[in-house]
Amino acid sequence: MKKVVILMCTCSGVCPSMAKIDFWELAERIRLELPHSYLVMHPRLCEENGEALMADLLKPDAVYITPACDEKKQMKLLANGFSRAGVPMDENHWIPIRMGLRDTEEVFQEIKRAVDSMQGAIT
Ligand code: SF4
Repeated sequence: MKKVVILMCTCSGVCPSMAKIDFWELAERIRLELPHSYLVMHPRLCEENGEALMADLLKPDAVYITPACDEKKQMKLLANGFSRAGVPMDENHWIPIRMGLRDTEEVFQEIKRAVDSMQGAIT
């Protein structure tokens, strides 16, 4: 059984492409409605401070669902954090989700799909 962790990057909360997302509503809906191990929100995972968090937090026995910028960008921008933690960015450990140009409901549904795909894996 793996932990399923939702590691959300809010892009400082002022990214114009995420203007339609209410991060507080989204966090509370995730907490109440989706089975997962725990949720972490950070304002800038791709900066030193975020990478330091990832280095401490990420473990190989978990899968990380990362709502943030688009998937290709995440592949580049989160690489240092995963690398510092020694966790590979493969399908067993990482499910990226794009939040840009989506609203709260659309992002919630994407996260729900990712969580549903991990059903039975949650500890
Ligand atoms: S990882 Fe992506 S969403 Fe997060 S701060 Fe960097 S650019 Fe923004």
